Amino acid sequence: MSTYRLSNLLLPRSVALVGGSPRRGSVGGAIVGNILKAEFGGKLGVVNPHYHEINGVEPVRRLDQLSFVPELVIITTPPQSTPEIIDEAGRLGSAGAIIVSAGLGHGAGSLAEAAERAAQKYGMRLIGPDCLGIMMPGARLNASFSAHMPCAGSLALISQSGAIAAGMVDWAAQRGVGFSGIVSIGDQLDVDIGDLLDYFALDGRTRAILLYVEEIKDARKFMSAARAAARVKPVVVVKSGRTARGAGAAGTHTGALAGVDAVYDAAFRRAGILRVSDLRELFDCAETLGRLESPPGKRLAILTNGGGIGVLAVDRLVELGGIPAQLSPEVRAKLDAVLPRTWSGSNPVDIVGDADAARYAAALDVLLADRDNDAILVLTVQTALASAEEIAGTVSRLVADYRKRAGRWAKPVLTVWAGAGANVVDQLSSAGIPNYPTEDDAVLGFMHLVRHREVVDELMQVPPAMPTSFAPDVEAARRIIDTALSDGRQWLDPIEIKQLLEAYEIAMVPTFAASDPDQAVAYAAQIFARGATVVLKINSRDIVHKSDVGGVVLNLTSLDAVRTAAIDIMARARARRPDARISGVIVQEMVVRAKARELIMGLADDPTFGTVVVFGRGGTAVEIINDKALALAPLDLQLARDLIGRTRVSRLLGAYRDVPAVKQDAVPMVLVKLSQMAVDIVEIRELDINPLLADENGVTAVDARVAVGRVAPKFRGKSSVNFAVRPYPSRWERHIEIRESWRVFARPIRPEDEPAIHAFLRHVTPNDLRLRFFAPMKEFTHQFIARLTQLDYARAMAFVAFDEATNELIGVVRIHSDSIYESGEYAILLRSDLKGKGLGWALMQLIIEYARSEGLKEISGDVLRENSIMLDMCRSLGFEVKSDSHEPDICKVRLRL
Ligand code: ADP
Ligand code: MG
Repeated sequence: MSTYRLSNLLLPRSVALVGGSPRRGSVGGAIVGNILKAEFGGKLGVVNPHYHEINGVEPVRRLDQLSFVPELVIITTPPQSTPEIIDEAGRLGSAGAIIVSAGLGHGAGSLAEAAERAAQKYGMRLIGPDCLGIMMPGARLNASFSAHMPCAGSLALISQSGAIAAGMVDWAAQRGVGFSGIVSIGDQLDVDIGDLLDYFALDGRTRAILLYVEEIKDARKFMSAARAAARVKPVVVVKSGRTARGAGAAGTHTGALAGVDAVYDAAFRRAGILRVSDLRELFDCAETLGRLESPPGKRLAILTNGGGIGVLAVDRLVELGGIPAQLSPEVRAKLDAVLPRTWSGSNPVDIVGDADAARYAAALDVLLADRDNDAILVLTVQTALASAEEIAGTVSRLVADYRKRAGRWAKPVLTVWAGAGANVVDQLSSAGIPNYPTEDDAVLGFMHLVRHREVVDELMQVPPAMPTSFAPDVEAARRIIDTALSDGRQWLDPIEIKQLLEAYEIAMVPTFAASDPDQAVAYAAQIFARGATVVLKINSRDIVHKSDVGGVVLNLTSLDAVRTAAIDIMARARARRPDARISGVIVQEMVVRAKARELIMGLADDPTFGTVVVFGRGGTAVEIINDKALALAPLDLQLARDLIGRTRVSRLLGAYRDVPAVKQDAVPMVLVKLSQMAVDIVEIRELDINPLLADENGVTAVDARVAVGRVAPKFRGKSSVNFAVRPYPSRWERHIEIRESWRVFARPIRPEDEPAIHAFLRHVTPNDLRLRFFAPMKEFTHQFIARLTQLDYARAMAFVAFDEATNELIGVVRIHSDSIYESGEYAILLRSDLKGKGLGWALMQLIIEYARSEGLKEISGDVLRENSIMLDMCRSLGFEVKSDSHEPDICKVRLRL
């Protein structure tokens, strides 16, 4: 498991520090001091052969001279000695080490590698090297050299920078923000962000996880862990280090548009993580998400005693994409009844400068009951006319009562007490009501709730199935790419591009390649014969932007004009780009669609996250307009629609003025098709269609570029080696004949299987459910089933089996592998009336086959001792069955692959 022994490391019962010196400013000395100061309850030892005393503790000379085996070893010695210390600690039985020291180097032959190897020998976990250490306030453990220790609380912080972690601790201390844990991960030799996400996702004390990220190394592992964690609790990230993309990568528009930072944005969004811009916002956001549930909508009602501040709040709200709530005539009437006539009459509900606690209470009562808002912001500007404390007290009581009544449906109430003292703030805080220094902060807080809801909704969404009518000719596409590769070419020629797009059912305008003006005239004649006009373009794989060199001439109407244009275009290109290889001209039919929108879409390759899909406003000025959005591949129709919705040009796709709307789903469908192309053919390195013309009749590609090349696989596994999030693994669909005339169709589970799973569970007896889940199961919520059905097909895989005769779901088998892909844990559930007929056997064989192909070394599982049918089956499948010494009711079964 990626969380293997992590709890020993983070919540150890005993700690030893190796290193340190009595000198002031010694890192080891500071850590010893911090451990003592925090009053760690477990055992503490210091190992150092050179001194008699470090920070009041008398060191022993070697680890094995301690009177106990330290669960956690903290190493601050010079780097050369680190591997040896780890080896010794491992031999003694330590669970893990934090390597604070830097300078262990990287890669083969380095001290880092030696340290890693030593740890692996004993199954020890390592944090660092080059880190600040860890702080676990709940366990009173400060194994770091930070100047301060935060108080205990419910935020977990995982930081790639030690300095930032230390800075955040200071900041948090000033604001009384508490932590469940802070881990400075350093170089992530072993324990990485993914492991810690797994750990804190399951940690009951942690309500939200904060990340400070500089760079993600293992994108697939990160995405898996992040998606799982974000389903359970808010995950918020600050990402710094806006590094430049490696040079030479962008030979297409999409390549240029897919900047590193935009790709990180897309990755976080896909993972359900909320990205904020700086540390201050990170805390604000964590505070809000930690205290309030995200409302289902984004309509904010504002209650204020100052008109100006209310208007400022509305402006900010609209700017950030929120909606000011509308007051219905009924609600207005209710407010009229309790407020003086001078109130504003609309949202913001300005109840005027002399408002006292009773007036606040009366108005707030009405707004809390109003169904036309999703949240309420209470603004108070201190005046000499009313007591801020009294108002705060009344609001707190009212909100507390309301929350009791409304339970989990209670809408969020946010507050600003401008100019109020600490006692007011305390009063609100202790009532669990977040309060902000300014209306700006409060509105931002509300929008954090909204955006958090959006990312999680996107994560939990049940996407529609792939349109079944789409059947690409993968073979034909492959042949085109293979030909180009065996010619040693990087770019496809225009005819190959047209064929490739057509193999994926993307229409392209009729296109011909002419090597000289005569041939151009001949092709043009064919186009004129159809009554269309002609476009000529330069055909050169070295010219990315044809218009730039005068290489595009539109709307030619005679053969003479075509001949002259062909000669001119080639001459211009030779003059302006003497270096370019010119293959002639492209002859195209001119598309005349007065109301067509010009769009760009394409694929690019990110060094970390693999294939990304880009969409935006197209034409020759794309880079300048820069209206684009990107998403990690693969996409389904819903994700494609979401991607489009994030651009400004998306608003032009609907009807406006006398322009009819673009054909329904025509544009997102092209994105899905491109994404599928990337799934099928990894050798497509970069692709863009610019422009794609879209109108009420559909879409047509007019210009496209495709770069191909062989790539080293980025991620593990046999397929989708270039996707941080795996696509649906359709190659695992199987028709299985279990017995004569009993045919079963098994396939990887899909989110849309949720209703079928519900129906299936009704056919499973309570006792069978208990044998599977080890606990009585009464109710299956959407959340619960979503976690079973929405898999990343990377670490988790599940197959569902359908009876081919009835189409009913009759069984599920799943496997969850550890993050290092060595061992997988399986579970299986069958319809109770179909047990003992060979279905379980067939599904187990399928999951074993799958585990083998993934390169796992073993499959294991926990089985209740009373579940003799399962134990028998395991034995006959070759599993080894052992008792669990800690839990007598459970047997551990294991199959080496
Ligand atoms: P490049 O992007 O290399 O400059 P394009 O082939 O995209 O060259 O042509 C530039 C512009 O000319 C397009 O954005 C489009 O507006 C217009 N155009 C090109 N080909 C056609 C065509 N066949 N029908 C209509 N317009 C075209
Ligand atoms: Mg173009």
